[in-house]
Amino acid sequence: MKKILIVDDSATQAARLRSILDDEYDVSVAQTAEEGLRRILEESFSLILLDVVMPGMDGFTLLKKLQEEAATWDVPVILITSLSDAEHEQRGLVLGAVDYITKPFKPLIIKARVDTHIKLYDYRRQVEQQSMTDQLTGIANRRRYERYSIMKWDEAVRLHVPFSVCIFDIDRFKAYNDTFGHPAGDKVIAAVAKTAASHMQRSTDLLARYGGEEFVAIFLGDSAAESFGHLKKIRQAVEDLHIPHAPAVSQWVTVSIGGTTVVPEAEDCYASYLKIADTMLYDAKRHGRNQVVWADERMEQLWET
Ligand code: GH3
Ligand code: MG
Ligand code: MG
Repeated sequence: MKKILIVDDSATQAARLRSILDDEYDVSVAQTAEEGLRRILEESFSLILLDVVMPGMDGFTLLKKLQEEAATWDVPVILITSLSDAEHEQRGLVLGAVDYITKPFKPLIIKARVDTHIKLYDYRRQVEQQSMTDQLTGIANRRRYERYSIMKWDEAVRLHVPFSVCIFDIDRFKAYNDTFGHPAGDKVIAAVAKTAASHMQRSTDLLARYGGEEFVAIFLGDSAAESFGHLKKIRQAVEDLHIPHAPAVSQWVTVSIGGTTVVPEAEDCYASYLKIADTMLYDAKRHGRNQVVWADERMEQLWET
């Protein structure tokens, strides 16, 4: 059931709204804007019905705050008020409300508008989700990676925690395609993505398809030694899929991984660390492939073999 929050200081009005909606939605009520804000930041609602006139913080102020927060700016807000003059309506819409309903309201109208905005919100989220997902593998695509990496880098600088980035590349993949064909190659890319994705540890770890047969992973909080250890397991898990490679190349399909861990300072630049990960990958390839090479916090290399 989709969740709706009613923010209204009048218990009677909130109860009326709830009775119109609670057949189809999971409806909660907050009696002040302050309580509403707290709940919206804690839970995820599909829509907010917001009374404008309330003691303390009013609906316009709450709406403005929601618009300013990255986590809440896109949640649809319908304003409910008796302020029926055009100026107030305009103010609400300019502030980012998706709709405006004036009291006294008709149940059918409330229901219809809520349904519409919930459907639109759902649809928008789906489209956004799709535009950030790689079709072949179902993991994040390059676009999502570009956005997320900047966000995570800034977070690591701010919180002063270790930031790790690594690049995976399937070994001798051209030979695989030449031997088994491109569609079979696509299946291998998907299988490698699935295995790597299943080894991500936190919901905030990102694994993305960087392009072709290359992937990139980003995570916060682990030391170089921990990251190195973890990526060795992923490398081994890919080998353990036992996907036969082109006989002239090797027994199984494998990946090489290059990565680095840094506790970034404000003056550091993400691109230069990505470049280091790429250099480590190059070293892994040069040293015989199917291995992880990592640059630690002091830029010393960790080798598997
Ligand atoms: P290396 O071990 O040095 O990485 O050798 P490699 O053959 O994997 O490297 P190279 O970069 O020369 O070739 C990458 C190949 O990956 C080329 C292309 O045929 C294949 N490839 C890239 N994207 C896709 C894809 O989406 N599907 C399939 N099936 N193959 C792809
Ligand atoms: Mg490559
Ligand atoms: Mg390759």
